[in-house]
Amino acid sequence: MVLSMTIPAVMMSTAFALVASWFFYSRLTHPAVLGWLALKIAIAGIRVLHRIWHTQRGHGFDHLARQRQSGWLLFADGLVWGLGGLVALAGQDSLTLMASISLVGVATMGAFALQAHWPYVVAYCVPVLVPAILVTLLERDPFGLFVGMGLSTLTLCLLGAARLAQNRIGEMLYLRFTNAQLAQERTAALNLAQQQIEEKSLFVATMSHELRTPLHGILGLTRMLQSSSLAGQDRDNLALVERSGEHLLTVINNILDFSRIEAGHLETEHKAFDLCTLLSDVVALNAVTAQAKGLSLQADIDLPASCVVMGDAARLRQILLNLVGNAVKFTHQGWIRVSVSRPAASADGAAPLVFHITDTGVGIAPQDMAHIFAPFKQAEAPAHQRLDGSGLGLTIARAMAHAMNGEVSCTSVLGQGSTFELTLPLPPAIAAATPVATAAIAQPSSETRPSSVRTVPLQGRVILAEDNDVNAMIVEALLRRHGLEVEHQPDGNAVIQAVCNNGIRPDLILMDCLMPMLDGFEATRLIRTDEQTRGLPRIPIVALTASALSEDSARCMAAGMDGYLSKPFTEDQLVSMLNTFLPVSSSPTQAAALNAA
Ligand code: ADP
Repeated sequence: MVLSMTIPAVMMSTAFALVASWFFYSRLTHPAVLGWLALKIAIAGIRVLHRIWHTQRGHGFDHLARQRQSGWLLFADGLVWGLGGLVALAGQDSLTLMASISLVGVATMGAFALQAHWPYVVAYCVPVLVPAILVTLLERDPFGLFVGMGLSTLTLCLLGAARLAQNRIGEMLYLRFTNAQLAQERTAALNLAQQQIEEKSLFVATMSHELRTPLHGILGLTRMLQSSSLAGQDRDNLALVERSGEHLLTVINNILDFSRIEAGHLETEHKAFDLCTLLSDVVALNAVTAQAKGLSLQADIDLPASCVVMGDAARLRQILLNLVGNAVKFTHQGWIRVSVSRPAASADGAAPLVFHITDTGVGIAPQDMAHIFAPFKQAEAPAHQRLDGSGLGLTIARAMAHAMNGEVSCTSVLGQGSTFELTLPLPPAIAAATPVATAAIAQPSSETRPSSVRTVPLQGRVILAEDNDVNAMIVEALLRRHGLEVEHQPDGNAVIQAVCNNGIRPDLILMDCLMPMLDGFEATRLIRTDEQTRGLPRIPIVALTASALSEDSARCMAAGMDGYLSKPFTEDQLVSMLNTFLPVSSSPTQAAALNAA
């Protein structure tokens, strides 16, 4: 800070020395003035060279040595001014006054330029002013005394002010560097935290994939066995296995959703869907459990007949399933009511929809209300009891509501029941918008699943690319049951061989994404390139994958696939996908056989 001003300061001081020499030249002896000017220019030159030398050496020098050298040069420069003052003060009173003013000007400018380092101010200002002070005071006449006292006071003030300035600048620099360091540390900590979240999220996604694959096998085989001729107790046991598997799947999905929310990857859709259908589904899915507990589950829908709205049907469904599911879980007698209404339209458009899920259940204590929306938190359980669940449902529901610009809140009286309120801005859809089929989004539990399997036989040849033998066996059996011819291939290379080098082309390819040798994405790309180069019709390719992130479906589409089914999927979901891509068989005997099965 101080030394960066050396060259401009030396230039200014030399220019002033020239002016002063010109002024005093005619009033004092010429050799004295010229000698002094030569001395001044010499010291100015040395200071400039010293500065340039250090700049060129860059940062690889000894700071203390440099400081000492600069201090001595400043002292020498100050001394030259002080000597000049002595020469000028030797003249008449008017010259004494001019010389004093000049010295005051030089010392003030010096103190200003050097204020960041107090020792420099001392090194420069003391030799400028002290000789003049001594000479004027030693004159012992009133004029000399007056000038001497004035110069002494000014010197003390300059040194005091420089000291204060140095302290202030020191504090300012300390704050600035501390701030910069804090900001750097904060950014590093944020980056680290973000990186850790991303890593955790990747870990969860990978684990979820690894867990889903065998779970798909367990659930698929269980459903296959259920449809075979099993005796009563075995059938019940198998239903328990299926329910446990589905429970595990819900937990995996919750953990995956939570890590997605934590990593800030929660995205929402804005599409038209039929709200009434969605609500009836949610109520129907919970009705069986409610009935089994002897509870009445009522829906009170105060909406116009056609209630097609814009929003994210899948997320809304997930929120409502959680809230209604909780109400059923925590109510042991009485009723549960699901109501929805839209308050009168406001001036700036449709008001948000307000859902209420009210129950006459156990209620929530005031001290628990504060944390039930926090992750992994549940209300205090009665002694020696553990509440069922992971404590993630409400966290996810609220995060999803927030992602859709809505809110979930709760009021409750312990022992009397609770009301959860969900407010969501779901504007009515414009007439042209086609509602998406909400049923296709769900993965309902088999126990409560309304049967929507179209038992119309399909026809065609399907290539099933799947490296897991158990999963392949299940899907193959399902496909054959629906009248399809199936060819199983264990990896991407084998699929390419079968599709691109063989004369018979399949009607559909079900492609696992992660396979050895060649993955499903690359295999799809190669098939699409082959179709383009040979001018062949496009075979529908549907991904069957255990990855359940929305990015995965986007990746499948980008690779050239036409559909996406995440494992474990139900027979309903598989069939509804097949119906989209395959022609229906016209054989009545096949239809009869299928319906009997
Ligand atoms: P969990 O999966 O444990 O149910 P949630 O996040 O969905 O997790 O709920 C957190 C806690 O909030 C529950 O464990 C329960 O204590 C309380 N809770 C949620 N809904 C209700 C309700 N309708 N009645 C009483 N308590 C409820």
